[in-house]
Parts: sequence; structure tokens; C-alpha cells
Amino acid sequence: MQAVFQPHETQAETARLVDLYARQRAAFNAQPFPGVVSRLRRLASLREVLLKHRSNLNAAISADFGHRSSHETELLEFFPSLAGIKHASAKLDKWMKPKRRGVSIWFMPASNRVVPQPLGVVGIIVPWNYPLFLAIGPLTAAIAAGNRAILKISEYTPRFGEALRLALREAFDEDEVAVLNGGVEVAQAFAACAWDHLLFTGSTGVGKQVMRAAADNLTPVTLELGGKSPTIVHADFPIDTAAERILHGKCLNAGQTCVAPDYVFLPEGKQEAFTEAARAIVAKWYPDAGKNPDYTAVVNGRHLARLQGYLRDAEAKGAKVVPLADIDPATGKLAPTLVFGVTDEMSLMQDEIFGPILPVLGYQRLDEVIGYINARPRPLALYYFDYDNSRISHMLGATISGGVGINETMMHVGQDDLPFGGVGPSGMGHYHGHEGFETFSKMKPVFAQSRINGLWLMRPPYGPRVEKL
Ligand code: NAD
Repeated sequence: MQAVFQPHETQAETARLVDLYARQRAAFNAQPFPGVVSRLRRLASLREVLLKHRSNLNAAISADFGHRSSHETELLEFFPSLAGIKHASAKLDKWMKPKRRGVSIWFMPASNRVVPQPLGVVGIIVPWNYPLFLAIGPLTAAIAAGNRAILKISEYTPRFGEALRLALREAFDEDEVAVLNGGVEVAQAFAACAWDHLLFTGSTGVGKQVMRAAADNLTPVTLELGGKSPTIVHADFPIDTAAERILHGKCLNAGQTCVAPDYVFLPEGKQEAFTEAARAIVAKWYPDAGKNPDYTAVVNGRHLARLQGYLRDAEAKGAKVVPLADIDPATGKLAPTLVFGVTDEMSLMQDEIFGPILPVLGYQRLDEVIGYINARPRPLALYYFDYDNSRISHMLGATISGGVGINETMMHVGQDDLPFGGVGPSGMGHYHGHEGFETFSKMKPVFAQSRINGLWLMRPPYGPRVEKL
């Protein structure tokens, strides 16, 4: 559902933004370097409040989606959010320690170090598709790095936004962490704030607007965007296993995932076997998919119509559409669907699909596939199914993407010790794990002169000493 905000609500939320920003800045100025104990306390409070409100946050997301599998919310939102907090808490002491750096011979015995310092007040803009994980993941990094933070939740998840606001108020004073809800006007005012850092997760188009607004304040941005993530199956890889792992990435959250496999390249001759395997998997996972609670709905009527439009457009232009289940669209769900015979003229090969539709393309030589991928915008994820290490190395070197999954889809995102982020149109910057801590820190270089080196060589009068160097 998309919330329609009345003008007075938009005005009130924009006024709250101004007030919260001023309060957080004053609070940060009063305590610019929270120590490890206070950061750990904040992370513990965040964890406790998530555990306490687990069921009502889960229910709110499902209500916003029409239906979101509660198990998917557990597996894909709570589990990685809690794991990320645990990881940051365990590593924080190490991350916060200044790191010694080398000193060149001319400057000895001076010393160099890099000191992580909180940036200040940071903004986090959250999309609707994983509203909890994409709020809590960046927030964990921001808190670990010692910042104050304000989150702006998507207008498509208003029930969740309100539930999160109330939950976080129990754990934090709003001058530490606060939540704003509202539509595009609030989002625009949010992006125009003079944040010390702004992390945006959302579409590539809106990401450009966010970066433009941030440029006026020279606010550094991390942009976590989308795009079409290609998937390639090598001829030697077992097709049933590939089908299961690709369908998993496509069916979780009904394909409404930034790193979902967008389309798949299969070796010529494997299409029928892939279709049969995919059909059997969907029947096993989601019997009576329309009513099956494990299968998530498309977030709202607008997005359902967009996805149905892709199928109509593809069929009209000669593609073969193969639904893998029988679902009444009145349920708000769309069946996992394969599409064969696609061309670049079809809208589903131009837009990020962001739903349970999988275009299937054939290929004969791997280099054709690499050429196809490299002729298109750099994707957020790339998936390659193969057990041959030299071909895997070739694929890694020949393509550029935000991240890679070998023989699996999506699971690289859930690794606490791997950075996450896009490249080019799929995003800039990283978070998760240590990279998240660094994104929200100023990694401050410090040069400390010793008592005994006066750097006399560098001071005038220079004369022959310098000429001889
Ligand atoms: P969206 O870009 O429409 O909206 C994202 C957020 O931006 C929302 O909170 C919205 O209110 C806000 N917003 C809208 N207009 C704005 C403006 N002019 N200025 C500032 N903020 C504005 O994206 P969406 O539909 O919520 O999410 C789907 C997109 O997000 C997909 O493209 C998907 O790939 C991408 N995504 C990326 C990641 C990632 O980690 N890379 C994760 C999830 C989703």
C-alpha cells in the first residue's frame, strides 16, 4: 500500500525533520566522540528493541505488502539485522583502535596513525522492499561509528514506519536516533539537509536526484541502487541445482529484491530441462501458491500492473510466457514466470524487473555472454554457476559488478564480513561489516612529530643541502 499523506502531515513531518536535525547536531556537538562502552550500549538497545517488537514489526510489514511471508521477514530482515548488530558489537573495539602507519625515512622518528572519528549527524533513506533490514543495517554501522542518525522510511511501508518509530523511541532519545515517515516532499527535504553523510537505498533514477540535492551541501553519499543482475549457467553445471538456486533468488520476497537474479543465460539446449526443474521446484515450495503463506505478494496494485504490463508487452512482441503456478491476480500475487525468446525491444529487458519474472536467454559461447553484460550498465550483482576455477577466474576478471555469487544467488549480501555496494549506475560506496564502520567514520590521518627531528633540512635557507638531494 502507498500511504497518501495530507498536506498538514507533510508539513508536520518536514518541521519535525528541521527540529530533530537541530537537536541531533547540538547533542553531537556536546558529545562528539562517544566511547566504545556507550556505542556498545546503543547497539545492545537496538538489538533488545528489535527482539521485543519482533512480532508487531513483522505484522506491520505484511500489512503494508498485502501479504509478506512472516518466515521471509524473519530470514531476510530480522536474521541479518541481528547478525549485523552482533558482528559490529564483537568487532567494535578493534575497529575503533587507531591504526599505525609507516613513516618515510626523512620524517623519522615521527609517527603516523589513522584515527576513526564519528562524522556527526547522518541521514538514511530506506526503500520499501526490505524496510527493516535496509533501515537497521545502515543504522548499525552509523551507531557503531559513533554518529547520531535520522531514518526516512518509504511511503509504501507506512505501518512499518510508524511501528519502527514507536519501537526506536523506547530505546533511544530522538536526539540519538529518530524515524521520519512521509511522502516524496518529506524525502526531498530530507535529501536537501546538510547531513555529515547520507546513505540512500533505492532506485537509480531517484539516486541521481538524491546526489544532486546532496551536492549543494557537499554531503558525501553512499548510494545503494538497483539494476539488472545477470545470471549465467555453464553447460557443465547440473541444471536442476542451478534452477533451484536461481528460482530461490527470484521467488524470495516475490523477486522484489535489489540483488535478485534479473535474467538468466542458459547454454543452448538446456531450456526445457530448466523449465521442468523450475516447475517442479515451484510446485514443491508453494503448493496452491495464491493462498500459500510462504509466497509473498507484490507490494501494491501499481507494481502488480507494471509486472503484468511486462508480460503483455513481451508476449505481444513474440516472447513465450510460461507461468510456473496458477495464481488469481486478485490475491495481489504474481506467479513465478519464465519468459523465453526475449529481445532488447521488450520492456522487461530494459527495466529492472523487481518481481518474480525470469527472462531466459540462450547462448553458445561464454564470450558472447560477457560481451552482452559488458555492453550494458554495470550490475549490482552477477551470478555464475560453474565448478571450473579457471573459468570462474575468467568471469571475475572479465566483468564488473557490485558483488558476485558463485553457484548461489543473493547469499553474498548476508555475509557480515563482506562489504556490500554497487558500482557505477548500481551504486557507490559500501557498507556492512568493517566497510560500514568506515563509511560512517572520518578516517583521520594524524602525523605526530617527535621531540628530536626538527626537519631542519626542509627549512630555509635551503642552499646546497637541498640541491644535493
Ligand atoms: P525509490 O527510489 O522509489 O524510493 C526509495 C526511497 O527514496 C523512499 O524512501 C522514497 O520516499 C525516497 N524518495 C523518493 N523520491 C525521493 C527524492 N526525490 N529525494 C529523496 N528521496 C526520495 O525506490 P523503491 O521503489 O522504494 O525501491 C526499489 C528500488 O530500490 C529498486 O531499484 C531496487 O533495486 C533498489 N534497492 C537497492 C538496494 C541496494 O541495497 N542496492 C536494496 C533495496 C532496493
